[in-house]
Amino acid sequence: MYRVKSFKIVSLFFVSFLLVISFFASVFKQSMTVFASDNIEIIACEGEKQEVQKEIIKWVDFNIDGQSLKSVLEFCKEYRGKPHSPSFAQTLSYLSIKNSNEFDKSSSLGILKKLRAYLDEGNCILDKYGDNKYFLRYQQIYHAIFDGLVGEYEMVCGTTQYGIMGYFPIAKGFDYNHYDDFGNSRSYGYKRRHLGHDFMGQVGTPIIAIEGGTVTELGWNKYGGWRIGIRSCDQKRYYYYAHLRKDRPFALDMKLGDRVEAGQVIGYLGYTGYSEKENTNLKTGSPHLHLGLQLIFDASQEKGSGEIWIDLFGICNFLTSERAVVTRDDNTKEWISQSIKVPILAK
Ligand SMILES: [Zn+2]
Repeated sequence: MYRVKSFKIVSLFFVSFLLVISFFASVFKQSMTVFASDNIEIIACEGEKQEVQKEIIKWVDFNIDGQSLKSVLEFCKEYRGKPHSPSFAQTLSYLSIKNSNEFDKSSSLGILKKLRAYLDEGNCILDKYGDNKYFLRYQQIYHAIFDGLVGEYEMVCGTTQYGIMGYFPIAKGFDYNHYDDFGNSRSYGYKRRHLGHDFMGQVGTPIIAIEGGTVTELGWNKYGGWRIGIRSCDQKRYYYYAHLRKDRPFALDMKLGDRVEAGQVIGYLGYTGYSEKENTNLKTGSPHLHLGLQLIFDASQEKGSGEIWIDLFGICNFLTSERAVVTRDDNTKEWISQSIKVPILAK
């Protein structure tokens, strides 16, 4: 009897002890879970934000061909307005991840086909890659390159469209030829790489602003001769148009600080440059436009060793459908553009 009673007391004590332990354990576990998940969430979230905001891109390997860019644009047009519709920059980033940043038109089409199936099942690119640091890096780069070239814009007639907002740099009706000459060797002044893209053409060919912005450089430069530099409205791109025509290089009344629009005539093709003396033609070589596109992620990259220039061959091929129509004013002998696009966001 004594044993039974003591057994009951011990059991009661033990059960109570277990209950108390499990109560504290559950409270402790609960608080740990909340604490841990909050912590992880905060860390992950902050980490992600920090990475997106803080990373300053220092180099860019851009090699997308024109046909792939056209295919991606058609894809984005098709999905525009649908749920989980990816942006142009997101779609390009997806391709860069899938093809290890080695583009060619046939593999791009294959990847887009798989992406179409993925989206049609109700998936979203960001579910899979929203926290992938490579994807986020590509996205940042493609936003910097294309935010002023692809998007929603308004035509002069007032209609709104989504597509290519930029223009090809050579006016419609004027002959040109070009090939991928980015990175070729140059030797005037010092040995260096060719950080731009050349268009051969006739002297006097109207040069068109690829994208709108502010004229931040205008005048003589011993390498580029008569040149004009335009900084995009979002400050991320600097377009450099060089070797312009002797005597009359720029569009009439063009001056530093002017605001220009995509499609506007800004100057005329020539072959000035490679001289300390102003208004001098190149001693060798044929008339051509030297075109450069510099990406600026941070003010420290504006001038000097941190400059990032990209290959424009693919982008120019992408823009071939966008040739600005120009007409000649016989009184001033100026060419005037009839094709202007104004990005909706930049207004
Ligand atoms: Zn050049």
